[in-house]
Amino acid sequence: NPVSGDSIRSRFLDFYASRGHKVLPSASLVPDDPTVLLTIAGMLQFKLVFLGKAPKQVPRATTAQRCIRTNDVENVGRTARHHTFFEMLGNFSFGDYFKKEAIKWAWELSTKEFGLPGDRLWVSVYENDDEAFEIWHDEVGVPVEHIKRMGEEDNFWTSGITGPCGPCSELYYDFHPEMGYLDVDLGDDTRFIEFYNLVFMQYNKMDDGSLEPLKQKNIDTGLGLERLARILQKVPNNYETDLIYPIIEKASELANISYALADDQTKMNLKIIGDHLRAIVYLISDGVLPSNIGRGYVVRRLIRRAVRSSRLIGVKGDGKSNLEAAFLPAIAEKVIELSTYVDSDVKTRASHILEELQREELRFVQTLERGEKLLDQMLADALSSGHKNGTVPCLSGKDVFLLYDTYGFPVEITAEVAGEHGVKIDADGFEIEMEKQRRQSQAAHNVVKIAVENGDLSEIVSDTEFLGYDMLSARAIIE
Ligand code: ATP
Ligand code: MG
Ligand code: MG
Ligand code: MG
Repeated sequence: NPVSGDSIRSRFLDFYASRGHKVLPSASLVPDDPTVLLTIAGMLQFKLVFLGKAPKQVPRATTAQRCIRTNDVENVGRTARHHTFFEMLGNFSFGDYFKKEAIKWAWELSTKEFGLPGDRLWVSVYENDDEAFEIWHDEVGVPVEHIKRMGEEDNFWTSGITGPCGPCSELYYDFHPEMGYLDVDLGDDTRFIEFYNLVFMQYNKMDDGSLEPLKQKNIDTGLGLERLARILQKVPNNYETDLIYPIIEKASELANISYALADDQTKMNLKIIGDHLRAIVYLISDGVLPSNIGRGYVVRRLIRRAVRSSRLIGVKGDGKSNLEAAFLPAIAEKVIELSTYVDSDVKTRASHILEELQREELRFVQTLERGEKLLDQMLADALSSGHKNGTVPCLSGKDVFLLYDTYGFPVEITAEVAGEHGVKIDADGFEIEMEKQRRQSQAAHNVVKIAVENGDLSEIVSDTEFLGYDMLSARAIIE
């Protein structure tokens, strides 16, 4: 099948190999760089070469790089195109070819190699990049209506707060050309998908934000494999491509439900499971174990979110150390089966991956069960002290918050269960705790976001284990 995920990957690499690029292996998800958190793009393994701080081995290279983007975790299952784990196909020039070749090849790859109709493609360029605009228009022949000038946020790519960067140009596929030319927004997910980004890497961003020209002009590109697979396989979202759907099918089978017949909420949880299990498997394979800091916290959070989604689709871990009973390892087996062309080492590490995953899943299920016990205890205490003081028994705001924050019980559920025992809750006190936490987590979130984007491990703070459960998940936990 020429449009299977595996074929698309090899066709991309072959296309650039036959244009003088050396095919290099994917780097690990853990970059060979102590200041960087996780591999977020194909360029990371070449960062020093771009900066002129390491000698280049070849003038041109092409890779299929496995990537993790934690900043997209909330998008998973909500947009049709974002994953935490995905593969970025890239072609790179180290002071060799520049804009003209990069643009022409990207067009040829898209329209000739993969046969996308040219009139379905739109491109963006950085607002003042007339050179790129002219190459697209004059040399490739893209009509002006299909070229959008965009600002820094979309079209100036930086790998972090400092480091190699430059203006970029993105290719978008139009699913609904009948919508015409009025009020076109390339960010409109229902109409367009961005699938290829060409970065004209020619600056080094300094600490003070200034741009210092690099000695040589480079090309760094990234094409999302899952996104191109979605377009070519003509499925409604990336999750239904052959790269991810088998994992979702496996999860549905184990949960005894059908993806096709499921409601949107269930579908979203299946997508989260399909996405997160890939990230978890490849991270553990690359040596990241669940913990409370840095990379380990990323894995831990992904596993917990996957457990949460599992519970929401009706799967319950039994909290015992029985391998067969653990849900996530069974799905992980499918991920491992599909890993052959992504990372051949995953199969040899399979038993280690499954053991670590199972251990963490059971540990978390036990946390949830401890939360249930804690609530029982709090209710008993409230009843006896209310009885003693002759007041209406009440759970304090702090208690309600602890249940919410650490054990995943939202206030409505706690109120409901408490009410059944004739216990009130201090809703105002809870709100005060929530507000405190919001302020803290906003600050922490900003730090984590910057640290993740900037890749600075030392700034990752994670003493707050905010699980962010919603109403539904807590219901599933309590039932
Ligand atoms: P978007 O605007 O859709 O979030 P991006 O502009 O952040 O994408 P780039 O940094 O330009 O993405 O990355 C290059 C390519 O990698 C994108 O064009 C896309 O095909 C792919 N890609 C980026 N982020 C993701 C993701 N979270 N999941 C899947 N593919 C992605
Ligand atoms: Mg993005
Ligand atoms: Mg973008
Ligand atoms: Mg982009």
